[in-house]
Amino acid sequence: MSRAFNFSAGPAALPEPVLRQVQAELLEWQGERASVMEVSHRGKAFIDCAAAAERDLRELMAIPDDYYVLFLQGGATTLSALLALNLAGPAQGADFVLTGHWGEKALENMKPSLKARVAASAKDGGYTSIPDRAGWQLDPSAAFLHYTPNETIHGVEFHDIPDAGGVPLVADVSSNFLSRPMDVSRFGVLYGGAQKNLGPSGLAIAIVRKDLLGRHGRELPPIFELLNQAKNDSMFNTPPTFAWYVLGLVLQWVKAQGGAAAMGERNGRKAALLYSAIDGSGGFYRNTVQPSARSWMNVPFFLPDEAREKAFLKEAEAAGLLGLKGHRAVGGIRASIYNAMPEAGVQALVDFMADFARRHG
Ligand code: PMP
Repeated sequence: MSRAFNFSAGPAALPEPVLRQVQAELLEWQGERASVMEVSHRGKAFIDCAAAAERDLRELMAIPDDYYVLFLQGGATTLSALLALNLAGPAQGADFVLTGHWGEKALENMKPSLKARVAASAKDGGYTSIPDRAGWQLDPSAAFLHYTPNETIHGVEFHDIPDAGGVPLVADVSSNFLSRPMDVSRFGVLYGGAQKNLGPSGLAIAIVRKDLLGRHGRELPPIFELLNQAKNDSMFNTPPTFAWYVLGLVLQWVKAQGGAAAMGERNGRKAALLYSAIDGSGGFYRNTVQPSARSWMNVPFFLPDEAREKAFLKEAEAAGLLGLKGHRAVGGIRASIYNAMPEAGVQALVDFMADFARRHG
């Protein structure tokens, strides 16, 4: 048995060279005579490692100096709840644009802490499109506008940054973090879990414009106060050191690949290859997302019936193509093709799809 191409939505495939490096230095890291998991987060070796990861992320995403980069626990889910507490007072409003499951989840998480309003939703169309910007009912006094640039389950992605008219944009980029260049200065907050494009689970990243923190006027437990993490280099308490270290290696790998621009070019090519296989299948494979909103990262598609979807998954696995089952909310097949998925993996998938369609069409 050998490593397969892994299309899992998250936790997701990591670059193989990163895993090999982890393996090579697992027992003795950086001359510490111990594993990275076994040394203090306050020791020089780990502090250097943590700082290097932040530096590399700042460089790769061209993050301006007036933004904090926070390395936190609790995943994107906890972070959404914390952001609601940290970015607005209880009487303040926040607008939400819903283009899928995760936007809904963020709304649920934030709703108890502020006055949430849905400014636009694509739910009626089964989350297969982005609501026309002209129809968004934005409140200019809202503390922020929340949206999900890439909806992991529905496979809907914004290919440009919406104009929020001066209201800070808060974007859950869990599933498209660093997948292409993004103008950070257009956002109030970019946040997400690491376990798709950046590293292992257990770590969430928030990139927060500095002036947005510390203005909510609430009394929060100190650990929920993001400004405390910001002022303590995300070490207000013990951070997930192993995940942080692996994330640092992934960032070095992205740099060696040519950075965000190279990722974007490669991800665009991968997505084009897969969508053209779907669209060129004479209707055997179907993706129902409006073409202009199709995700480069998560590609859901259907076969003519569930029996053939089941057979597809079984045969794909035997052919070394893993993690292709669609989310239970949508069904069908979903191929997640994050940064670490090589073009050869997508090529293997489309070759398999063509062969399967020939045999089962
Ligand atoms: N937002 C998006 C866009 C996601 O894809 C996910 C996880 N699939 C989440 C939020 C939830 O992330 P976590 O499990 O890290 O809380």
